[in-house]
Amino acid sequence: MAARKNFEVIIIGGSYAGLSAALALGRSLKKVLIIDGGVRCNHQTPHAHNFITQDGVEPGVIAARARKDVLAYNTVNLIDDLAVAGEANEEGFIITTKSGAVYQAKKLICASGIKDMMPDIKGFSDCWGISVVHCPYCHGYELRNQKTAIMANGEKAFHLATLVHNLTDDLMIITGGVADFSQDQVASLDSKNIKIIEAELSEIAHENGHVKHAVLKDGQKLAVNAIYAAVPFTQNSDIALTLGCELTESGLLKVNGFQATNVKGIYACGDNTAMMRSIASAVYTGNLAGAMVNKALTFRE
Ligand SMILES: Cc1cc2nc3c(=O)[nH]c(=O)nc-3n(C[C@H](O)[C@H](O)[C@H](O)COP(=O)(O)OP(=O)(O)OC[C@H]3O[C@@H](n4cnc5c(N)ncnc54)[C@H](O)[C@@H]3O)c2cc1C
Repeated sequence: MAARKNFEVIIIGGSYAGLSAALALGRSLKKVLIIDGGVRCNHQTPHAHNFITQDGVEPGVIAARARKDVLAYNTVNLIDDLAVAGEANEEGFIITTKSGAVYQAKKLICASGIKDMMPDIKGFSDCWGISVVHCPYCHGYELRNQKTAIMANGEKAFHLATLVHNLTDDLMIITGGVADFSQDQVASLDSKNIKIIEAELSEIAHENGHVKHAVLKDGQKLAVNAIYAAVPFTQNSDIALTLGCELTESGLLKVNGFQATNVKGIYACGDNTAMMRSIASAVYTGNLAGAMVNKALTFRE
């Protein structure tokens, strides 16, 4: 069995949330290990927006700057590896990595993000984060005035349409089946000239991730250049779950106002806990988790 290395805190996931937590802990001289798999959910997006001071910067550049900032604190360590198993013991938590290393820490922060599940539509995943997007705040401004489709149904579609309609006059909702709107919602969509198409997409034709047009299952071509899609997701890592952490109904890790999960000593931050997915939100919740873990360790001492 590999020799166990000891830390005060292990952070699983070294993107915006995990690095932000590490920054708060490093500045308090806590001995931290970040384990990072290196695949951010926004890795295919050319430019990140809506994060103050970094608007329009490549997501990888923001992450690299954050790594540099954090690793300037010499109590913070980072390894490029995957955490694959977790176990609780009397001193805290043992984490094993894919490469076979074993680490012990008093506290655990799960900042491992979520995985978007790509639908079985030709071209969809190639366009994800480029011209097929999840969030009007992140990409709506750049996609303004485009021929736009919302790929969703019911409340989700109506909510997105409400946010997007002032960015374009050419908006349609592709429901993927029988439309699920109230009479009031239909009237409201109609008054804004938003078309409802009760059909499924079979293909998104594109050039380097930029939508050229969309094709319905019956072969009909739609003139569309931008698509908003609400896709299902799963947690990237099940370590928190195997250690007893609970999920919300929507599949996020359940945390209180201080980013603590229901399991003592385990905190979570970033996309794996948040409905509002953004770099700003990941940085905020990571920073809060770092401060709360520091407080818990300091009180214990
Ligand atoms: C396509 C797309 C475009 C986006 N564009 C924007 C934008 O323009 N502006 C904006 O503000 N937000 C944007 N977002 C949202 C933003 O990217 C996320 O909110 C943010 O990345 C969440 O940060 P995070 O640290 O929680 O997770 P992530 O950035 O997803 O990082 C999770 C990290 O954990 C690691 N990890 C996972 N499992 C393990 C494991 N078992 N062991 C070790 N490491 C592990 C991963 O490798 C990864 O490095 C976008 C999201 C998507 C999907």
